[in-house]
Amino acid sequence: MIQSPLLTQFTGYIDGQWTPQTDDRFQVFNPATGDVIAEVASLSADQVTQAIEAGQSALRLMQPYPLETRRRWLEEIRDALTEHRDEIGRILCAEHGKPLAEAKGEADYAAGFFDYCARHIGALEPHELPERARNCRWTVHYRPIGVVGLITPWNFPIGMIAKKLSAALAAGCPSVIKPASETPLTMIALFSLMDQHTSIPPGMVNLVMGKASVIGKVLCDSPEVPMLSFTGSTEVGRQLILDTAQQVKKLALELGGNAPFIVFADADLDAAADNLIANKFRGGGQTCVCANRIFVQDEAMAAFGQKLAERVERMTVGNGMDDGIDIGPLINRAGWDKVRRHVSDALDKGGQLVAGPAPDSLSGDDLFYPPSVVAGVTPDMACFREETFGPLVPMASFRTEDEVVAAGNDTEFGLAAYVFTADAERAQRVAAGLRFGHVGWNTGTGPTPEAPFGGMKASGIGREGGVEGLFEFIEPQTIPRGD
Ligand code: ADP
Repeated sequence: MIQSPLLTQFTGYIDGQWTPQTDDRFQVFNPATGDVIAEVASLSADQVTQAIEAGQSALRLMQPYPLETRRRWLEEIRDALTEHRDEIGRILCAEHGKPLAEAKGEADYAAGFFDYCARHIGALEPHELPERARNCRWTVHYRPIGVVGLITPWNFPIGMIAKKLSAALAAGCPSVIKPASETPLTMIALFSLMDQHTSIPPGMVNLVMGKASVIGKVLCDSPEVPMLSFTGSTEVGRQLILDTAQQVKKLALELGGNAPFIVFADADLDAAADNLIANKFRGGGQTCVCANRIFVQDEAMAAFGQKLAERVERMTVGNGMDDGIDIGPLINRAGWDKVRRHVSDALDKGGQLVAGPAPDSLSGDDLFYPPSVVAGVTPDMACFREETFGPLVPMASFRTEDEVVAAGNDTEFGLAAYVFTADAERAQRVAAGLRFGHVGWNTGTGPTPEAPFGGMKASGIGREGGVEGLFEFIEPQTIPRGD
């Protein structure tokens, strides 16, 4: 069982109190060892309702929390995360499996969102419009939308909640937070920090864990929750749209991706290969911005494939707690099976294995999958259509700019894309043609607190980060004054 000063109980947190431990619990595993590291309380539907009620009682509409108070909450969380980054990283590594240094880096990334919102919260001040319209003076107020449900996935156990919670607190919205059942411990640790090190009042932040269907139903059905912010699969996102339609809830959705990574022959191929490695294998390939389809211009394919294979063969796979590990385990059996299925399917349909083991040679006794590169990928292969969410690099070749933009867009998703070329005009044309919310040019970097990030098409609705993200939980209200 995991031991940590930040994990003194394994229960929910409602109205400023930890909930009692229950007989109904679920297990949390370390994916690197298969060990059970905690048993966590599964909350009932009634407790989720209590969390919403606690949120309602913390919501201040007629006497809003002053901007300075909200700024202080954000700074307190930022400082607590920064001070405890090593411990957060250790817990995160134990339940997710990503390398320890990467896990600690995620704690810093999370702190960055609280810092950004604290620095930019002034954008939420009410202001008077310069124009006198309809013979009135107009002021615009930015009201908190109300109690919000924040539902997060397992792939960034601290990063994803930071994006949502920072903006919700900046807006003055109480929240009911549901982490993924694979990674609730990092969230419990965050709540310990908020409980111990911040002045956030009871009811502003509530933690519920357990069966997604039970918790999701209460959040969707409650008229007291006007908005849900969800990061996860497109399938569940679609379900939430259906389940909230009757009440016309606001939804912020960050869903699946199927990122194209496009390498033109004029690009710096070493830089492209280095960036692809950093992008593709972050979190073991389990991020929605990981390159999922690599398009390489014909004449560069042989050279690029070789550079990539050399780098992939140097990568180390193992327990993220150990020194020098680049890639940890997959999160669970289903995740591992999907990677093997994608490699096998690609090879069956004519792809060539450029690096990595033959899929049939793997015993599957653990959750480690060696990084693999497959060339000759075509649109009929599963790895082209679906997000692999694992350490597979599938490569296809292309000839022209128009052809590769069409191929990149040949997916229902539109989250992240990358283009490598030395030609600035071409980069601008290709970026404009790609229907993706984030297009890296000569970089494989992902989102940052300073910039709005989100998906087009089936990749979602809304943006997190940047000033746009700061406004996600806001209802603008106008007051024209007629006297
Ligand atoms: P992933 O494939 O990354 O596990 P999911 O979409 O299955 O993504 O899960 C993302 C988050 O959504 C998790 O916290 C999960 O428990 C939660 N979730 C899954 N189904 C529902 C649902 N019907 N209502 C609300 N939350 C759900």
